Order: sequence, then C-alpha cells, then structure tokens
Amino acid sequence: MIIGIDDTDSPRGMCTTYLASVLVDELEVYGKVIKPPILARLNPTVPFKTRGNGAVAIKIETDDIENIKQYVIDRVSEMADLEDKRTNPGIVFVDDDVASRLESFYRYAVSTLLSIDDAGKTISDLGVDSYAFKNGRGLIGALAAVGAFCTLTNSNVDHTFELIAYRPKNRWGSKRQIDEPSVWDADALTYPLVWDTVDHTSGDIIFAPHSPDPVLYGIRGDTTDSIFEAFGMIKSEDCERLTLFLTNQGTDAHYITASIDEMIEYRSYILDGVVTSPPRTIQGGHVFFKLDNTLECAAFEPTKSFRDVIRSLIVGDRVRVFGGFKDGTLNLEKIEILSLIEEVMRNPVCTCGKRMKSMGKGQGFRCKACGNRQIDRERVKIKRLVECGLYEVVPSARRHITRPLIRERGGGRKVHVTR
Ligand code: ATP
Repeated sequence: MIIGIDDTDSPRGMCTTYLASVLVDELEVYGKVIKPPILARLNPTVPFKTRGNGAVAIKIETDDIENIKQYVIDRVSEMADLEDKRTNPGIVFVDDDVASRLESFYRYAVSTLLSIDDAGKTISDLGVDSYAFKNGRGLIGALAAVGAFCTLTNSNVDHTFELIAYRPKNRWGSKRQIDEPSVWDADALTYPLVWDTVDHTSGDIIFAPHSPDPVLYGIRGDTTDSIFEAFGMIKSEDCERLTLFLTNQGTDAHYITASIDEMIEYRSYILDGVVTSPPRTIQGGHVFFKLDNTLECAAFEPTKSFRDVIRSLIVGDRVRVFGGFKDGTLNLEKIEILSLIEEVMRNPVCTCGKRMKSMGKGQGFRCKACGNRQIDRERVKIKRLVECGLYEVVPSARRHITRPLIRERGGGRKVHVTR
C-alpha cells in the first residue's frame, strides 16, 4: 500500500515532510516501510501553497492495513495545524496494483491547476480509500504524491534526493545553530553532485529555512553518497531525526512546451520567441521585456544577477524562456539565448564624424554640418554583453522543482551556471 499525505502545515509551523519522517519511523511496527519515501513538488504556481507545494508518499508492505490507516489518520489529526483556515489535510491509501494509475494525476498536478472535485472523481473512479479534513484540498497533493512514487521509482525518470534534518520540538521557532564554514566546506567538496546548499553570489547559506517549522536543513543532490558525505561534514545543533527523500526537485517536471496562444494562467512554460521590446527596469528593480509583441516576461528583483542577462537583450534576439505564468506575466526562471542580433542599421556617419539626419522617407541622409549626402543606412556591428546559451536565476531565487543548470546533461548547449 502507498500512503499519500498533503496540506498539514501552515506559515506558523509544521511541515508535511516532518509528518512523513515521523510516520516512516513509527509505521515500522506495522510492517516494512520501503525507503526512501517520496517528496513530490507539485505545480509551483498554485495559489493555495504554504511554501514549496510539497506532498509526500510512503510505501509500506503490511497485513495490518486497517490499523495502519487509523494510526495515520490519528497522527495527521494530532500533528497538522488544523486551526489555520488554509490547512486542509488529505490522506489517501492506495493499493499497489492501483497506484500506477495515478501517474497521469501526478503529471497534471505538477503542471496544471486541479480542483478538489478532480481529486474526488479520481478517488471514486479508482476506488481509493481516502480521508479528508476540512475542505479536503490536500487530497489533490496526496493522490499526486502516490502517482509521483510510481513515476520517480522508474529508473528512467529524472529524480534527485534530499536528506532533511529535523529539530526537536523545543527548538522550533528559535534561531538555527549551523556552523556556516562547515557548510561551505561541504559545498566545496560535494558540488556539483550536491547543489543549492549555498549561494555564492550573495554569500548566504540557503539550505536552511528561516520559518518556525521543524526543518533544520535539507541537503539536495544527485546521489545519496554525496549527500551523506556533505551531511558528515556539516556541523550544527543536534537534530531529532533525519529522513532521506526521493524527489522530483531540480528536474523541470513542471514545464509545458507550448506556444504563446496556448498559455493558461497558473502553469509553467517553455516558449520560443523573439524579443520585441527593449528590456525596461521598473521601480523595485524588476525587469520586463515583451516576447513576440504579446507576452510580458519578467525577471523579478530576487533573481539578482540574472536581471543583467535580461537587461542585455535587444530587440530581435531569439530566446527560449522558462517560467511560471501568472497575472498575464511569465515569471522567468531560466532563459536560453538562441541567437543574438550582431548588427544594427544606423544613419550613416559623415566624413566629419557627425551622424547624418534622415531627409524623409526614401530621401536619403544629409549631414547638417557639411551638407554631405548618402542614400542608404549603414550596417553597424554591435558589441554584445551576453553570449548564446542557457542562464538561470541565482540559487536563492530558484523554484524547488526547477532544474539547476549544473544538472543539465547533453544537448550540446552552452550553459552559464549560477551557483
Ligand atoms: P510545504 O511545502 O511546507 O509542505 P506546501 O507549500 O506544500 O507546504 P500545502 O500546505 O501542501 O503547501 O498546500 C498546497 C495545497 O495545494 C494542497 O492542498 C495541495 O493538495 C494543493 N495542490 C497541490 N497541487 C495542486 C494543483 N496542481 N492544483 C490544485 N491544487 C493543488
């Protein structure tokens, strides 16, 4: 049986992964818990998320199904922050032979916006046993996490791992004691197999949250060996428990490849087009440009040095944009510059060094100072400040699910990694 759980936390505390960590240990008395459990990141643009839109799934081999179900329901009702009106937990108990039929539900949950009714219909169509608290929105993530379990344990599907260390309850909400130099040392030794532990551009440690939840820190990477190597080097306050999750983090699972006219809000896209307005910076440091005269693309202030790449674009450059679509704007996560304009047409320069003025449409150009004339505009080579290839936002601004460029394999594209 695979158990899917979601929506147990609130901005005040708790974390669905912590609940999973506790259950992985406590359910051992009922049967064999198959490790690692799954941490699935779902559509990052959903308006209902607390933080990273994560949901969890735990597989257990057991004959004691009814007791396990009751135990899980009791634990969720004790540990979830049910007082918060946005916390609406959902639990699903899915038989192994039905679970793979949830893979398409996972694909939709990671890339589109689903309704509670969609979850209800899937539950009744597949005859899944479920338990909902309050409005039951968590059933969406719970079903998707079970689908993700089947998808991600297929060795052909891109996946990563995260080792999460949790704090004892008496420390929740207090400042995390982590020895920063040891984290930098761990990064130096285990990068690129371990990534997004630190942000070299800002000099910050980014693998520990600042919220009052039970997470001390999470180490993300491609291999469990490199993650445990980093863990062995990091010095910090004692942790209460430790769980390794198999995840879809850093895999780009959320993107849909489409054209601009097919776009729907609250989805994330990969689109090709031409820059049709010069990038402009507005108050607050956000940078915008238009793609194909239609789509507003934005690099927001937290993306930091990524904005310099966007500011370097000029009208006519061909790009591939990656980002979440909300409020009519594509919030850029990555960009691939496919081709750069190398020359522009300018009014000719006179022998005196001044640029000539146009005499009207089709009338040629004339130097105001010495009266020289010329018929055609000139082609001028321009110096570009960027080169073709893929660029990404700084680590501290990344979506959990977006693939860091250091994980980009093959494709022969030039990759400009920001670490
Ligand atoms: P944390 O990362 O700390 O676990 P969170 O960001 O995961 O918090 P949740 O509290 O789980 O946030 O809230 C997300 C809610 O959105 C859940 O109820 C989940 O079922 C729902 N949800 C997830 N994916 C979708 C989707 N594609 N469409 C609609 N609702 C979704």
